[in-house]
Amino acid sequence: MGFNTDVLYAGRQEAASQGATIAPIVQSSAFAYRTMEDLERVFANRAPGFVYTRVGNPTVAAFERRVAALEHGFAAVACASGMAAVAQTFQTILTAGDEVLASAGLYGGTIQFNALLRNLGITVRYVPHFTPDELESLATERTRLVFGEVISNPGLGVTDIRAVAEWSHAHGLPLVLDSTTATPFLVRPLELGADIVIHSTSKYINGSGNGVSGIVVDSGRFRWDFDRYPALAPFRQFGPLAAHVRLRQDVMPCFGGCLAPFNAYLNLVGVETLGLRMERICRNASALAHALAAIPGVTVNHPSLDAHPQSALARRQFRDGLAGGILTLRLGSRERALRTAERLRYATIASNIGDVRTLVIYPATTLFAHNTPEERTAAGVFDDTLRVSVGIEDPEDLVQDFTTAIETDTKGEQQ
Ligand SMILES: *Cc1c(COP(=O)(O)O)cnc(C)c1O
Repeated sequence: MGFNTDVLYAGRQEAASQGATIAPIVQSSAFAYRTMEDLERVFANRAPGFVYTRVGNPTVAAFERRVAALEHGFAAVACASGMAAVAQTFQTILTAGDEVLASAGLYGGTIQFNALLRNLGITVRYVPHFTPDELESLATERTRLVFGEVISNPGLGVTDIRAVAEWSHAHGLPLVLDSTTATPFLVRPLELGADIVIHSTSKYINGSGNGVSGIVVDSGRFRWDFDRYPALAPFRQFGPLAAHVRLRQDVMPCFGGCLAPFNAYLNLVGVETLGLRMERICRNASALAHALAAIPGVTVNHPSLDAHPQSALARRQFRDGLAGGILTLRLGSRERALRTAERLRYATIASNIGDVRTLVIYPATTLFAHNTPEERTAAGVFDDTLRVSVGIEDPEDLVQDFTTAIETDTKGEQQ
């Protein structure tokens, strides 16, 4: 099946929905059983069934099957937010004393989370360019996980998934990738060797910015060495599924970061148009990036531009040479960046990405308010940077709106 067929049908289980064409919202905390013995069997993993929505729910499960199928993964666990997905994945795999190798320029919230891990005895080392050579130079005998973003937000670095997966596996390490900004429409990281894919489904998968959520998709292929991963040892009977099963049956129930059925339903509606939206959004972003790059005094960053250091990789790795819906603009000064944002008619000032509406933000003092200056610079955030999450508006309107906002400012300064 092609992608736009998959988003409608992949992972569908008709029996569960009584003929409803979209999985219904099962807004119930608990599930009733005829006898105590029936309930016992479900608790003991000897019979399938739902018990309590923190651990599993039919609407949430329908969303998990759909995304797992779109990523060509074995199974997925949906979470309360993208951060819950990141945090619970790290909790599943790591123990005190472990080290993580992560790409620099990650999502600000993930950098903030990584700093918090220090209190738990887990160290995250940042690799400036996330290449095998740099990974090799920072690896130690305590390294247990390799983590990066497929297209980093907002740095817009592109990960060479195949190369980093090969390096990781040669060292017995799982590769975990946050693919929020790429989505399965642009690339399926598990097919290129990644072991676990994480999404903030609040973004492109939901699509309309009406619910916060996240998901963890496991390939079911990584061969865990249970001496090196003691947290997974109690789950050794599940072999390559040990991390998936521990997340579902141990970490989710204990940390409680589950997805609400209503938000799973909103995501099931949203994901049906993921292919249509991503195609439009990525074409709009490329058109806007090329138009604005021609304006003197403006520096544009987007992987579709030849000036981007990984433009060739993006063309090779992503569907139809599309390069994502986020771009950044450097406008020369903080004042000019703020004035430009406020002058835009068709862009909303808001802290989000992946909406059908174009959104802009000045990241230095918002998204990166809790990061150090070094972390900001590594993430490609400067005093004059605006981040744009491009929407599905007509491209002529977007180009005209941004061009006018920037050029009005230039003229104002000259007077
Ligand atoms: C938004 C985002 C997150 C966090 O997701 P939430 O759903 O907001 O918790 C993680 N990674 C990336 C790349 C994001 O854009």
